[in-house]
Amino acid sequence: MTFAAAVLTLYPEMFPGPLGVSLAGRALAEGTWSLETVQIRDFATDKHRTVDDTPAGGGAGMVLRADVLAAAVDHARASRPSAPILAMTPRGTPLTQARIRSLASGPGVILLCGRFEGFDERLFAAREIEEVSLGDVVLSGGEPAALVVLDACIRLLPGVMGAPSSGTEESFENGLLEYPHYTRPATWEGRTIPQVLRSGDHAKIAAWRQRQSEIDTRLRRPDLWERHLGARVQPASGARRENEEPDQ
Ligand code: SAH
Repeated sequence: MTFAAAVLTLYPEMFPGPLGVSLAGRALAEGTWSLETVQIRDFATDKHRTVDDTPAGGGAGMVLRADVLAAAVDHARASRPSAPILAMTPRGTPLTQARIRSLASGPGVILLCGRFEGFDERLFAAREIEEVSLGDVVLSGGEPAALVVLDACIRLLPGVMGAPSSGTEESFENGLLEYPHYTRPATWEGRTIPQVLRSGDHAKIAAWRQRQSEIDTRLRRPDLWERHLGARVQPASGARRENEEPDQ
């Protein structure tokens, strides 16, 4: 089954862009996924094809009009009734690998790219649209964010990646960062590869990797580590975890 993506944008020429090469490009050529771009400006109704206007209440920049965007969204939705619609916005829910995995197992996705100051908020009340963010950074437009969402989905589609296991051992798949990697030469600038990785003892290697994964997650991403512990311990209501201090 083809994963059908539609991107609503003022800059359709940005697509497929980097997704036209390498794994994603080959998968596109083979029909594993498809891509349609929709020019938002085609849904403007005035002779100047206006898509934006000044912010109500004043201030800098321009705001994308709800009526024009809704017409573009309705058009994309009509041919893809079951695909979720995601709007790219720093005000959205931060994307997770879990959300990407569920998108990739579905029929496809409709991605709405903002520009300028963003969207007229009424769009989100009037249509079923999930607001998603790439993280706490501000881009000049939603297009790079849409490329990221698609790239992350496409690599999970059946047949796109070489070894099936390379999709499930990655960072975040089990709530942890991945363990560090090494390759030849065995010694480089006086630094050697950890001995255990050259031992050939698969059980020991797996244990070392699991331990490194836990150490690195705890040090680099205390937020992920806390969530991981919470998911693992699942305290009964009112129960405390060992490492928590009682309330004063
Ligand atoms: N005024 C907005 C930023 C607008 S940036 C604010 O402060 O929240 C212009 C467009 O870039 C946005 O409409 C959105 O589509 C895209 N964009 C910027 N940062 C993003 C992020 N972190 N995640 C997803 N999309 C983003």
